[in-house]
Amino acid sequence: MAKANTPKKFPSAIDTLLRIFQLKDKHIKVISPAPTPPTFVPAFKLNVEGTRKVSMEQEKSDNSRIKIYTDGSSLGGKVGAAVVLYEGEAKAPKTVLRARLGSNKKHTTFEAEAVGGVLATWILASCHIRTNDTISIYTDNQVLIQASRKPGAKPGQYLLQDFVNRLSRIVGTISLRWISGHTNVKGNEMADQEAKRAAEEGSSTREDLPPLLQQRLPISATAEKRAYHEELKTMWLNDWDNSPRKAKFDNIDPAFPFHRFHKLQDSLNRPQASILTQLRTSHIPLNRYLHRFAKRDSPKCTHCPRMDETVNHYLFQCSKYRRQRQEMMNKLGVMTSSDLNLRLLTSNPKAIRILLQYVSHTGRFSNYNGDVLLSNLQVEDDNNDGDNE
Ligand SMILES: [Zn+2]
Repeated sequence: MAKANTPKKFPSAIDTLLRIFQLKDKHIKVISPAPTPPTFVPAFKLNVEGTRKVSMEQEKSDNSRIKIYTDGSSLGGKVGAAVVLYEGEAKAPKTVLRARLGSNKKHTTFEAEAVGGVLATWILASCHIRTNDTISIYTDNQVLIQASRKPGAKPGQYLLQDFVNRLSRIVGTISLRWISGHTNVKGNEMADQEAKRAAEEGSSTREDLPPLLQQRLPISATAEKRAYHEELKTMWLNDWDNSPRKAKFDNIDPAFPFHRFHKLQDSLNRPQASILTQLRTSHIPLNRYLHRFAKRDSPKCTHCPRMDETVNHYLFQCSKYRRQRQEMMNKLGVMTSSDLNLRLLTSNPKAIRILLQYVSHTGRFSNYNGDVLLSNLQVEDDNNDGDNE
């Protein structure tokens, strides 16, 4: 939970962060690093069958006296959970219980799945259960089942802990089972609908809910972080749209700064990524740039006395690299050198590799980068790579 009071004189780094991010008065759940003792053994059976088909068959042949179906759902910006309980041979459910957690900016669907578990154990507590009873609790969330094996330092921990503690106290033989979602299994479909209804319409009567769910749940740190990042991205995008640099970058790569660019860079080694950035920004040891910093007497190309050695000249004009350029054009399927431009050459991973091969084959920067440029550049034999990103 956020600290109640900030010391006036010597606020700590945490106090300052809470103030900056305006989290001071919010009720955020703290995750404990070791909630479960190492000796913990769950007092219930776990059943996570791998395939959808097997999970359906098992559900069909399951003759437990009590079957409970749980689900969590996010709908219309709200997160909800529900359980449906069937007893014996009855066709209609004996109990249905819904809980709305709140906004999806404050809660995750995993929390909703865990709330489903809490609700399940709560309605079980109000059933008359004998020691030789068999009980099945169904969820379509495998993560929930795995996590209940041993609640760890994870988001939604306190809900999971409540769920597991209550499970351990129930007499009878309990199995926690996985059922694949969207299988037309009646109980499962109903739980799904009720969870959506919980998100849209809200919780069951307050008195019917477990104490934990009668009050507003603490905000999920995961959801809060996600919402904060969304907000930050929007703010940043606004700034970027109004920045004079945007126009400059649009000439090079209109997709900047999004994931595609980062993904491209991830597949390159450091010298490759560095050369690519240098080509994009024209901050590159070609004569024109070096001359600006008095590292060369002249900005002219050593081979073409009348031309400045710019990125454009080096890539698309210089007569010394005609052969390498033709090779690059063949690989790209470009007919004339006037069709070449930096935007095309940086538009997808394959083109970038072809560009870097050109750079390597010209040897123009071999003083700086050596053969490392060529190390992972296989272009010839992968034709279907990267073009459809
Ligand atoms: Zn030249």
